[in-house]
This record gives sequence, C-alpha cells and structure tokens, in this order.
Amino acid sequence: MKYLVTILMLFTGFVIAPLAVADDLVVSRAVLEDLSGSLTIADVANREFTPIGPTLSRGFSDSAYWLRLHVQAPPTGSQVVLFIRQPFLNQIRLYEADAGDPNHWKTRVTGNHYAYHERDLVRNSLGFVVNMASHEATYYLRLKTASISQLSVEALEPAEAERKDDQLDLLEMFFVTSMLMLLLWAIHSYLLDRLPVVGLFAVHQAMYILFGIAITGYLAPYIPVGFPRLADLSTAIPYCVVSFTTLLFCRELFKPYLPPPKLMAGLNLFLLAFPLQLVALSLGYTAFAVILNAVLIKLMWWYFVIMACTLRKEQSPSRRVLQLFFVTISLIFTLFWFVDHSSSTATKSRLYGRQTLLANGLIIGGLFAMILNARARRLLQEAQQSAHELLLTQKTLEIERTLKEEAEAQARTDYLTGMFNRRHFIERAENETVRAFRYPRPLSLMMIDIDHFKKINDTWGHDMGDEVLRKVSYLIRNAVRDVDIVGRMGGEEFAIMLVETGLEQAMHVAQRLCATIAETTIVSQTGIRMQVTISLGVTGLHDRDINFAGLLKEADMALYGAKQSGRNRVVGSGSVLARQDGQMTGSPIVPPASPKNFV
Ligand code: GH3
Ligand code: MG
Ligand code: MG
Repeated sequence: MKYLVTILMLFTGFVIAPLAVADDLVVSRAVLEDLSGSLTIADVANREFTPIGPTLSRGFSDSAYWLRLHVQAPPTGSQVVLFIRQPFLNQIRLYEADAGDPNHWKTRVTGNHYAYHERDLVRNSLGFVVNMASHEATYYLRLKTASISQLSVEALEPAEAERKDDQLDLLEMFFVTSMLMLLLWAIHSYLLDRLPVVGLFAVHQAMYILFGIAITGYLAPYIPVGFPRLADLSTAIPYCVVSFTTLLFCRELFKPYLPPPKLMAGLNLFLLAFPLQLVALSLGYTAFAVILNAVLIKLMWWYFVIMACTLRKEQSPSRRVLQLFFVTISLIFTLFWFVDHSSSTATKSRLYGRQTLLANGLIIGGLFAMILNARARRLLQEAQQSAHELLLTQKTLEIERTLKEEAEAQARTDYLTGMFNRRHFIERAENETVRAFRYPRPLSLMMIDIDHFKKINDTWGHDMGDEVLRKVSYLIRNAVRDVDIVGRMGGEEFAIMLVETGLEQAMHVAQRLCATIAETTIVSQTGIRMQVTISLGVTGLHDRDINFAGLLKEADMALYGAKQSGRNRVVGSGSVLARQDGQMTGSPIVPPASPKNFV
C-alpha cells in the first residue's frame, strides 16, 4: 500500500510537469546579454544575437537580457499574445520593431515592479497583446530579472493564451488543495502527538503553499501599487524559508537514526545561509539571496542522500525507505533541472518552472507525510506497549503487596479464633507495657481460662470444643474496646491487655465478662445447647516498675487463684489488691435462671 501511494505521487508529479505544452507562433528566438544593463534598443537592434530554444536559461546573473522574437501571424486574425509566465521578472520592456529609428519604436513595459493592472493580460500570467500588420513581425524584449533568468515567452493566439491561463488556474487549484490537505493532516497530527518533526513539516507545508501561490503570480494583484519591492519579497522570502524549513525538518527527521555528528554539523552550516539571506533581502540584494538559495537547494538534497546512506541506527520507517525517498527526490530535482536546461534547442516541448515547482511540492509533501505517518504509528505502538507493560507491573505489585499483607496478617493471627496469636499478643503487650510505664498511664492485664474445657472435648468431641472456643472468643472481643489488645495464648486460654485502664476498672470489666459468659447459652450448629464458665485473673501496672513478663506471671497467679477458689470467678492479683477491698477477690458469679442463647 505504502509503495503504491509512492508510485502514485511520482506519477502525478510526472504527469503534471509536462502539462500545457503547445505550439506557438515564434519562428526564431535569439538572445543578447547586456552585462552593463545600460544598452538601449538603438544599441542592440543592429547587434549579433545568439539563437536559442524556447527557454532562456543562463544560470545566475543579474544581467539584462535582450530577447529577439520573429513571430508569424496566426491563421485567423492579427492579434497575438506574447505570453510570459516567469515570476522573477522585475521589468519586461517590449519593443515592436518597425521601420526607421529604433528609438521611436512602439514600447510597453510590465513585470513585478509594475502595477498589475497595467499589464495587458489581467490573469495570473504576464503578457502583452500585439497586433500584427504583416505576415511576420519582430519583437524585442528587454528582460530585467532579480534571479535566474529562466524565461519562457510564447507567442499565442488569444484563445490559446486564454486556455493556458485557465489551465494554470486549474493547476494552481490542484496544487493548493492537495498541499492544504497535507497541511491539515500535519497540523492535526501535531496537535495529537506534539512531535516536533510533524510541527516542522506543518510549517514547511504552509511555507511551500505560500511560495507556490506567490511564485505563480497569484499574489501579484494584491501587491499595492507603489510598493514594487513587496512583489520581490513576497516570492523571495517564502522561497528562502522553504529551504530553511526543509533543512530543519530533515535535521529533525534524521536525529533518531544517529547520523554521523560531522554531517549533522554540516547541516547546521546550511542553516546559516538563512540569516544571511534575510540580511541580503533586507539590504535590497534580492538577487543574491535568491541565487544563494538556488545553489543551496541543488546541494541540499544530495547532501541529504549522503546523510541517509550513513545513518547508524535503524528506526521506523527503515533507513532503506529514507534512502529511497531522498534519492528519488534528488533524482527528480536533477531530472527537472536537466530537462529544463537541455531544451535550449528549438524543441517544442518543455518543462515550465511552475510545473516543476508544483510537482516538487506535492512529491516532497506527500513523501514527507508518509514518512511521518509511519513514524507516528510506530511511536503510538511503542507508547501502547509501554502503557500495557506499566499496567501489568502495577497489577503485579498490587498482588504482591496484598499477598504480603495477607501473609503478615496470617502470621499474627490465630487460625481458629481470628484473634492475635500468642507471639503477636506478647509483642504488642510488651510495647504497651513499656509505653504505659514511661508516660505513665494506667494499664491492666487479664488472663482468661475456660473452666472444665476438657470435659466439653471429651463429651461432645473436639469439633464441638473448637466451636465453643470460637464463640467464647467472640464474646470476649465484644466485651472490650477496640483499643484493647486481645489474644489467644494457647488452648482455651485468652489474654486481654486493657490500655489506659486501672485495676479497679479492669476488675469491673472482668466481672461483667465473667457474668456474660456464664449467662450465655451456647448453641452449636448441630443444636446442642450448653453453658460454659470462665475463670479470670487480673493484674495492673499500678505505678510499679514491672515488665510484661512480670505482669503475665501475676495475672496467671490470680487465674490460678480463681481456679482454686471454685472457678467461674474473677481474682485480682494479690500483690496489687493487698490494700483493696477483699470483696472483689474470689467472688463467685451465680448463673442466672434464664440464660441468653448464643448461637
Ligand atoms: P480447668 O477448669 O482446670 O481449666 O480444666 P480444663 O479441663 O479446662 O483444663 P485442662 O488444661 O485440663 O484442659 C484443657 C483442654 O483443652 C485440653 C486440650 O485437649 C483442650 N484443647 C487445647 N487446645 C484445644 C483446641 O484448639 N481445640 C479443642 N477442641 N480443644 C483444645
Ligand atoms: Mg480450662
Ligand atoms: Mg487451661
């Protein structure tokens, strides 16, 4: 598909180029170069002229050229249009050869330095309308140009001139429309992706369109009378800018392929031509700027070919495509130039500068766009790929984090009751004890043991025992605040660390818990109803310098006391309660007559 479009673009270029080829009424053309620019018609009329083909092309010069045309009358009518379509001509003076003194021959003038409405042809082409009195007539044209004097003057019947003008309008429409489409594409892509190379392409495209419009004479009618320099600048500036933006674009295009640094530096030297051209233009040396640009263009494209062939890194589009692209464009340029310059014998067919220009614009624009499109697509694919990989990495990290958190939680949790296990409980409780002592804050520790639990196992089985453990642990957790630390110490033994809680308060909590358990009827999944009791041993920090191990020992002692004194009761640590009400010690809890059910 890619190659098909390339072929189509090239084909379009070649088809457009030789358009508008027609016979004209010129019998012979001859030229005389006036290096001084001071000769008059009387000086040149009797001089030797050099015969030339249809195109006058004498390289770069600021000379004045005298062109002598022998024209034959058309088969019908006597009116002939001297049809001129070169845009760089500042002054074209026509002398209609007559008998007598040449200084009195009829003369007219047109060109970029003359108001547009003074031209005989009011369309985009320059031209004179002459009336031929005899079968053949001679015309002298003095041509003053600011640049390459590549001149096409044809003698046409008025209808033919009209037709050519129409053709040129059509060509211009085609050129502008296609180039605008490429420009819109470039702007759109740039806004989407913000690739500098695409932005530069958009600028290049805009400049080429402006250049195309200016050089084909379409801007001329809008140049105000009295500002002849504007006509010059309106073509010269876009002409120079086009080369400059081409250089910028290609430099950006080559960058990712890592061309040799020396060649890149050389490219910067080319870029220096632009400020030089601007200075020349501002000082009025239009010819210098334009000639410099013409030389630059001829060198530039072959320089790009060398660059394309020395790229060190593979990219998308591939180096091969780039090489093919630059070789193609350079060949087209050379071919156009060659055909243009070799047609100096009186051949009927020729390439006009204008066609060359339009074809070039379309070919370069089209191929540039294709290259950029390939690159943008590649970048998009890469971006999608990395976004996908990023997402995958994020997901993996998330899963790993969750797994780690789960593993950590499992490591601190008792599998049966969901409470902290012994190890984690001790870890937390130790920290809490240190903190409570340092600040100092009240703190209590409660040890709980289910009474005659062995019997439950023996009577109803181990599974039933597990169910009781789960339900008792639920009731225990419900009895305390969230800030309190609850753990299963092993078997049917639990511990609670009550933070910010003094012993007296802790004793109340313990009493309430003891009563709650005793009052609750546990109903198993299989419908077995039973009641269990617990024994509790409680101790507190109570302004003493004691560590957690010490507290645990005291609470265990108190629990042992509770067991000894008949179970189903709360016993406070003896060492702490020595001066407290003995009532709190070893008071049995009597189960109520109608216990609550706990399923
Ligand atoms: P006391 O009133 O003196 O505490 O008597 P007890 O029967 O509760 O005490 P003992 O230490 O004699 O028995 C505890 C029993 O708890 C022994 C053991 O089989 C049982 N046990 C320990 N861990 C588990 C467990 O995870 N599940 C079940 N079902 N039983 C357990
Ligand atoms: Mg027990
Ligand atoms: Mg026990």
